[in-house]
Amino acid sequence: MGQTDGFIKFNRAMPNTRDTKERIQDYKEIYPPVEVHHVQQQSARCMDCGVPFCHNGCPLGNNIPDFNDAVYAGRWEEAIKILSTTNNFPEFTGRICPAPCEASCVLSINNKPVTIEYIEKSIAETAFEKGYIKAQPPKVRTGKRVAVVGSGPSGLAAAVQLNKAGHWVTVFERSDRIGGLLRYGIPDFKLEKKIVDRRLKIMEQEGIIFRTNSHVGVNVSARFLEDEFDAVVICGGASAPRDLPIPGRNLEGVHLAMNFLTQQNKRVAGDRIFSGDIIAQGKNVLVIGGGDTGSDCVGTSNRQGAKSVTQIELLAKPPLSRNPETNPWPLWPMVLNTSSSHEEGADRRWAILTKEFTGDSKNRLTGLKVVDIKWSMFENGKTGFKEIPGTERILPCELALLAIGFTGAERGGLVEELSLDIDERGNIKTTNYQTNREGIFAAGDIRRGQSLVVWAISEGREAAKAADEWLMGESRLESKDASLVKVAY
Ligand SMILES: Cc1cc2nc3c(=O)[nH]c(=O)nc-3n(C[C@H](O)[C@H](O)[C@H](O)COP(=O)(O)OP(=O)(O)OC[C@H]3O[C@@H](n4cnc5c(N)ncnc54)[C@H](O)[C@@H]3O)c2cc1C
Ligand code: SF4
Repeated sequence: MGQTDGFIKFNRAMPNTRDTKERIQDYKEIYPPVEVHHVQQQSARCMDCGVPFCHNGCPLGNNIPDFNDAVYAGRWEEAIKILSTTNNFPEFTGRICPAPCEASCVLSINNKPVTIEYIEKSIAETAFEKGYIKAQPPKVRTGKRVAVVGSGPSGLAAAVQLNKAGHWVTVFERSDRIGGLLRYGIPDFKLEKKIVDRRLKIMEQEGIIFRTNSHVGVNVSARFLEDEFDAVVICGGASAPRDLPIPGRNLEGVHLAMNFLTQQNKRVAGDRIFSGDIIAQGKNVLVIGGGDTGSDCVGTSNRQGAKSVTQIELLAKPPLSRNPETNPWPLWPMVLNTSSSHEEGADRRWAILTKEFTGDSKNRLTGLKVVDIKWSMFENGKTGFKEIPGTERILPCELALLAIGFTGAERGGLVEELSLDIDERGNIKTTNYQTNREGIFAAGDIRRGQSLVVWAISEGREAAKAADEWLMGESRLESKDASLVKVAY
């Protein structure tokens, strides 16, 4: 424990974000560079609890009290060693993780939690700056070859771990660039792509091969992978979007959020969009869906110069603080989340049902007919949403973005070619990360459903361990359990 009375002396403090008016002029990160003194003071708030709940709150099992102690003492090399034992990409999670660890920090019972996520980012950035993060190719190669399908966080984590175990790893990615949703989903203002490229360069130096424009099941046959590789790990994500089949869906101006977000990330990368540009500039934008993807659409629309941005959600507005009876610590707090994109400006509305898109004679979107709803009991005793009479109205909009989730693994393609079993939620079914086909493993959103980057990394690591065990009879790769053992330095 760095400072015994740190949690009494210091309040939780995050660095100031860039001014909202300034930051919506560009797609750069909203936080200024890390300030070492500030981070060390924040790490002093960690109480090094006997039972550190934050540890369990993190899907990777990060050794949080240990790295807080090292940061407090300025032992940055030790801090990154501790963090790298459990997390391959702290520079990603330190920026975009919703930090379930902080929700379970013991300080948050009656105070504000330690700024764990920010400390994690600071460790990663300081370690890069000081040259502590560098390529570490394996000293011995096993001669086994492993194919990883998909280059999102789960595929990248699986690739790093399998390469570390000494296998030759090739990552197949259908897109033109590596990174999955880190590249073409999460906007640059949350995660600048130079951060992703910096890590990819190290992975290449470690011996991992990346093949872009390689769509397994389409222009690369899954059988080829089975023949050429000793094991395959499928990390294809859960990219099948949920649609909104209401009247007017085909009007010009109604789009899937992912198409809108991907286009903008491509523009920031310097690409030209040759057809079907989706642009919010000068338009009244309606974002349908109150989750993170919707929030990213809000931030992107404001940066594109939308006339107005409204975000609507089916569910009721969450409370401002947790209900200790039904949602006690250390569970994830089911409270109103105001993202940095919301701070930049949006009219947020809840408990609204979408009825119909309306358009003009030229088939262009002009509005969305909605009605207010309330969770109620029907005459037959069943519960559900009831429309509130007299609340039907049209919200004017020229651009509507559908951000209402995903429906699981994409069907056809490699799933069909390899006859993979699918579970009742539409994800690839596995037993200890192995599919119904021997030697073929699955991890990340394609296995667990649309989730978080931290879970994708965790799944990639666990699937890599399972594949390594299957290939070699045993595996020395770390897994979440091993992280619970304190590392001696
Ligand atoms: C807009 C948006 C914002 C998000 N923001 C956050 C956030 O701030 N924080 C957070 O923690 N999580 C966030 N998430 C969730 C997070 O991005 C995902 O949970 C995570 O990326 C899943 O990782 P993955 O590796 O399983 O899949 P993905 O990242 O989806 O990567 C899968 C990759 O596989 C490729 N692929 C698919 N099939 C094939 C094939 N047959 N052949 C070759 N390649 C294939 C795809 O092209 C893709 O590149 C967000 C999600 C979205 C949609
Ligand atoms: S990865 Fe996420 S949950 Fe884990 S310690 Fe970092 S911020 Fe917390």
